[in-house]
Amino acid sequence: MKYMSTRGNVRGIPFKDAVMMGLADDGGLLVPEVLPDVRDQLEAWRGLGYIDFAKALLSYFIEDITPATLDRLIDDAYASFSEKDVVRLVEVGDVSVLELFHGPTLAFKDVALQLLGGLFTHILEERGGHLNIVGATSGDTGSAAIAGVRGRAGIDIFILFPLGRVSPLQELQMTTVPDANVHCVAIEGSFDDCQSIVKTVFGDLEFKQAYSLGAVNSVNWARVLAQVVYYGYTSLKFDEAPAFCVPTGNFGNVFAGYVASRMGFPIQKLVLATNENDILARFFNSGEYTRGEVRFTHSPAMDIQVASNFERYLFYWFGEDPAKVRAFMDDFSRTGKASIGRRPEDPLFLATAVTNGDTEQAIRVVRKQTAYVADPHTSVGLMAASRHPTLRPMVCIGTAHPAKFPEVVDAVLEPGSAVHPVLEALRGKSARRTVLPADVAVVKGFIRDRGRMTSAN
Ligand SMILES: *Cc1c(COP(=O)(O)O)cnc(C)c1O
Repeated sequence: MKYMSTRGNVRGIPFKDAVMMGLADDGGLLVPEVLPDVRDQLEAWRGLGYIDFAKALLSYFIEDITPATLDRLIDDAYASFSEKDVVRLVEVGDVSVLELFHGPTLAFKDVALQLLGGLFTHILEERGGHLNIVGATSGDTGSAAIAGVRGRAGIDIFILFPLGRVSPLQELQMTTVPDANVHCVAIEGSFDDCQSIVKTVFGDLEFKQAYSLGAVNSVNWARVLAQVVYYGYTSLKFDEAPAFCVPTGNFGNVFAGYVASRMGFPIQKLVLATNENDILARFFNSGEYTRGEVRFTHSPAMDIQVASNFERYLFYWFGEDPAKVRAFMDDFSRTGKASIGRRPEDPLFLATAVTNGDTEQAIRVVRKQTAYVADPHTSVGLMAASRHPTLRPMVCIGTAHPAKFPEVVDAVLEPGSAVHPVLEALRGKSARRTVLPADVAVVKGFIRDRGRMTSAN
């Protein structure tokens, strides 16, 4: 299996190089040159546990790591989860919630980032050298990325987050990690500012190479791949092909569901649920992709206007034609809007936007009817699922533990409505962070000062 860029100027890249490259060198995103069709395996896979299923699936995409090593990396990644089978499927009224938040930072991003940390370490051990990971977070990615690489030899991690815009608990999950290789940077700006600084830093290829920068944002193919596993796994738990309802920000999670469907897993529909930042919902209902102003909502991990993984979907929508992707993305970066000229009419997707008021209502109604307490992101999905009452079986992706968002959940329900011992333990720990302006040059200077160079060259 080799990888290529959605923009066509990078091709023939083995998996390990794709992991290290992150964003493709031509500005596109890496995708497999050919997606495997696994339909003849499905019956054999139905009985597998999550970890064995992950091993079977990932081996299709990773040819340059020996099976024994890959198995060990997968075992290590999921040993940190409190759920033996990694994920948990819970009945909540007439839908199922697929809880993906039983990892160390209590959000679904651990599923991918615990694996990515191990992959980085393995590749660096083979090749030597040092990696400076640079990423932006609106909350959950940062702590999950830090948890994936903290204390690992050969890696430093720089996480940019918007000052005052991540919840106090989420900030503590990052800033209380004592390991010396962890650098938390609060940027005076929005999440989109953070993301655009990271993109610009990675776009400077000389800098990227000199400081051997690595990416953990959802542009990294390994993250998508780790997420394909839970769609495939869960789709085989039902007699009838289930629909999945996915709360979406960067289009990473739902794109993994799309890949699973293209590989032949039985998936009836993907219901894409955005919050008030509805650029993706508008695209699927009109074909227009138009950047708006970021709105701060109850589901901050989805307060995103430019969905960094969307380009991968476009690549397939355009029949895997990089020239069309390039033209669309050029339009978008020049003018803030681009269009495919009509509704995409993709039979797999339904898309809907959920307001703050509806998110609150979902939290309230679901608890009242089922006693289940859902976090605000999961609740965006639960509200979207309730708008399609005949689409069943329905699996709503549970992206975070509700105790991570007490500002919303406790305000809608009552104080202490969701708690978790991992979060209780953070209170009173000492924290470290550096505040910087939203300025690329200043951030580069910080990385230059704190990052370690590759000793090998
Ligand atoms: C990151 C995140 C999302 C959005 O996931 P995308 O892959 O960006 O679509 C949703 N909910 C939570 C809790 C998250 O951390």
